Amino acid sequence: MDIEEIRNQALGCTKCRLAEGRTNVVWADGNLDADLLFIGEAPGFHEDKQGLPFVGAAGQLLDKLLSEIGLDRSTAAIVNVVKCRPPGNRDPLPDEIESCRPYLDAQLAHMKPKVIVTLGNFATKFILEMPTGITRARGHKYKRRGATVIPTFHPAAALRGGRFGGLSPIDAIREDFKMVRAALDEVPQPPVQPVAARQEAEDPAEQLGLF
Ligand code: URA
Repeated sequence: MDIEEIRNQALGCTKCRLAEGRTNVVWADGNLDADLLFIGEAPGFHEDKQGLPFVGAAGQLLDKLLSEIGLDRSTAAIVNVVKCRPPGNRDPLPDEIESCRPYLDAQLAHMKPKVIVTLGNFATKFILEMPTGITRARGHKYKRRGATVIPTFHPAAALRGGRFGGLSPIDAIREDFKMVRAALDEVPQPPVQPVAARQEAEDPAEQLGLF
């Protein structure tokens, strides 16, 4: 099944109780051809209304943090572990995560991202397949699913404030985002042909060997 068919399946999904209360299934935002993928937890109020991930306060902070490392939603894709909003923004339950698992697995298989940033505990545990909490997992790079995985705090934790292991979540995220920038800069890119050379190569007369 191709990714559009799987997306259509997700948009009509009734596999778990979250289908009952949702306005929209929140599939993805950003550039699904990008090397970089952010994975959050689950849609909140605004995401449910608009059908797009990270459009509320946490999303605005994510956009700001992205711009600080020279990125935006055209250079990254954004998805969640769970595609429908849990009532009252409660944590997603284990059976809801399991029902939604094939959708994120399909997004990962389709995108083949080179760098994955997991935002908070749920995404981190999903990708690392380890019970380690985000406070201990962050600050390190991992290899999973052919990608460099960089776990960091969820931007909502930064909005709540507090301190974890001597560092505020926002300072920790900024540190981790520097690692993201560096990991992305290390991704080999296909060489870009100069425009003139491309035009020449596309010239049909040239291809026929008439010159
Ligand atoms: N928090 C998330 O984890 N995902 C969203 O899309 C919005 C807030």
